[in-house]
Amino acid sequence: MNSFSDLGLSAPILRAIKESGYEQTTPIQSRVIPTILEGKDLIGVAQTGTGKTAAFSLPLIQCLLKDEGKRKARTARSLILAPTRELVIQISDNICDYSKYLHLRSTIVFGGASEKPQIKAIIPGVDILIATPGRLLDLMSQGHIKLNEVEFLVLDEADRMLDMGFIHDIRKIIKELPKKRQTVLLSATMPKSVTTLANSILIKPVRVEVAPAATTAEKVRQYVMMVPKSRKRDLLAHVLKDTEIKRVLIFTRTKHGANRVTTFLEKQGIPSAAIHGNKSQNARQRALNDFRDGAVRALVATDVAARGIDIDSVTHVINFELPNEPDSYVHRIGRTARAGATGISYSFCDHEERTYLKDIEKNIRQSVPVFERHPYHEEGMAPAPTDSAKNGKTGGRPNRNTRNSKPGNKNRRSNSQKPYKRAKTTAGKQTVKPN
Ligand code: AMP
Repeated sequence: MNSFSDLGLSAPILRAIKESGYEQTTPIQSRVIPTILEGKDLIGVAQTGTGKTAAFSLPLIQCLLKDEGKRKARTARSLILAPTRELVIQISDNICDYSKYLHLRSTIVFGGASEKPQIKAIIPGVDILIATPGRLLDLMSQGHIKLNEVEFLVLDEADRMLDMGFIHDIRKIIKELPKKRQTVLLSATMPKSVTTLANSILIKPVRVEVAPAATTAEKVRQYVMMVPKSRKRDLLAHVLKDTEIKRVLIFTRTKHGANRVTTFLEKQGIPSAAIHGNKSQNARQRALNDFRDGAVRALVATDVAARGIDIDSVTHVINFELPNEPDSYVHRIGRTARAGATGISYSFCDHEERTYLKDIEKNIRQSVPVFERHPYHEEGMAPAPTDSAKNGKTGGRPNRNTRNSKPGNKNRRSNSQKPYKRAKTTAGKQTVKPN
């Protein structure tokens, strides 16, 4: 079953789906939508890029239609918790699109922005509240929001929420919800902490898994560049001379690192912007919009800030620093190769990061070919470069014979891993719908 019209969604929802440009359900959607419509609890193991947001939003919207207009003041009929402001906005944009022919009311709550408009929006009551845990708890403890009417709870990117230390906030929030409710938990990975949380809040959940976390890696052409730490900036400037690199997401490990790289790029005349937790919500949204519109070519981000961001046509991902968590690598390179494109990632690896690289390769079950045709190649794990290679340009071919690279890997892709086209949304647009 891969047609939306077979799923029991009502006509206004189907019309909105069609206008979003979706022709068929994705694998996760064809399994999750009917399960949620049957009223069952659900655990979904899926990453961004699989269509997971629509998978839970569409049946949620359908369920809320049953008692349209049942909203009560200062409360919500459904609650979606997500780890970051960006993800909250993205989910909200999607929900606004899918429910544009209906009279449901949704609103967003997240930190780093003024509380006032958020409080005002909840006063008449909403059908869908999308929130980060910290700010929601703040507004609850000040008495602005009550959760005693929530019939439907979604935890999106549960693994990330726990990584970010939200477990206590989540537990406090869940305590305030009615016991009789439907609960859906989505997570890219299923570490023990997420399983424990799931066991304590879901009742006889159906488990749906679409693709193991590591497989995103297979659709991205990945290269590693061995470079001394002190030459990474030079290498970055060198790599960015390649005009094929049109829209590049650059990852650093720290916020300061992101700022330093951005300043460096600006000095080199490369329009760039940084996005991380120290930036105001407005600054982050502006950076994202500029990147989307092509006003800046390079967006420099930390893992947390970039998580879940859905931007089409990121041509390249550069890991200026390798992450020490192998899963973060998969999330990072998964920001490219969306919407059917083939993405390319370059990871700058200095001597100290070689253990991270080993862990990453173990996790993705493939070795990353070494790209040694650049002027700053550092010998070590990879064979010494030839003289001609030393002077080569980025546009040259990587040495695919080094470190047992498997040339066939990039072509292996199962159906469940195909990226899906994204409908155009305006991040940050007003999400409170008039009645
Ligand atoms: P998500 O996994 O929710 O981050 O969604 C990834 C992208 O896929 C988003 O840009 C969605 O708009 C898009 N998408 C979701 N469902 C479909 C579908 N059935 N067909 C085409 N694109 C879709």
